Amino acid sequence: MSVSIPDGLVILTFDDGVKSQRTFAAPILRECGFNATFYITEGLNFLTDKTRYLTWEEVRELHDLGFEIGNHTRQHKSVANQSREELLSDIRHIDWQCNHYGIPIPTTFCYPGYTNTPEAVEMLKERGFKFARRGTAPEYPYDREGGRGPAYNPGEHDPLFIPTTGASGPHWNFDDFLWSLDQAQNGCATVLTFHGVPDLDHPWVHTEPAFFERCMQYLTDNGHSVIALRDLTNYIAMES
Ligand SMILES: [Zn+2]
Repeated sequence: MSVSIPDGLVILTFDDGVKSQRTFAAPILRECGFNATFYITEGLNFLTDKTRYLTWEEVRELHDLGFEIGNHTRQHKSVANQSREELLSDIRHIDWQCNHYGIPIPTTFCYPGYTNTPEAVEMLKERGFKFARRGTAPEYPYDREGGRGPAYNPGEHDPLFIPTTGASGPHWNFDDFLWSLDQAQNGCATVLTFHGVPDLDHPWVHTEPAFFERCMQYLTDNGHSVIALRDLTNYIAMES
C-alpha cells in the first residue's frame, strides 16, 4: 500500500494541560470533527492550580472524547538539563499516570520548552516513541511569543524531530496561520502548536478564544483534515 501526506493535512497539538483546552478548545474540535494531541506534564502549576490546569480525570475525558494524550514529561524541565535517568524517570511517571487513569501509554512526545538534544532523541527512540514534536527552531528563529516554522517533511525530518509550522501566541496572526496552511503541500504537513485558549498563566503563548474559533472555522470551510500526531502512521511509511 502506498502512503503519502495529502495536500492540506494539519496536525494539531496542544501543550501543557491547560484547563481551557478541555473547557473551550475540545468542544469546538468535536463540533468540527477534528482530532488533536494534548501534551500533558505535571510541571508548571499543574499540581497546585486546578482552576487553570486539567485534573487527571479531565485528561481522561479528553481521551474518552477520542483525542490523543501525549507525554510532555513529569517536571517540564529542559531535556538539555536532565540526566538520562532523570528524563527517563519523568517520562515513565506520565506513562504510569496515564495507565492509572485508563489512558493508553503515550506513543508521541513533546519537548518541554522546545529544547532538544541528540541524546534525548536517541532515548525517545529506545523508549519506543513513534513521533516527537519540537518548536520552530533551528530552521526559523525562535520567538517565544509565537511564530512561523517549517512544515513537516517526512523525507527530511526524523519522526522524533517533527517541527512546529505555526506556534500560536501574541506574535502569530491570521496571516501567519494562512501561511502555515500554504506549507501543507508536496508531501508536507502543517503542524500547529497551541497552549491555553486562553492561557492565563503564560501570556507569551496565549491564544484569544475568538482567534482560535476563526482558525478552526477556516479549516472547516476549506475542508482540511485535522489529525493528532499519532495518526501520522496512516500517512507515512514507518520503519518497523
Ligand atoms: Zn510545554
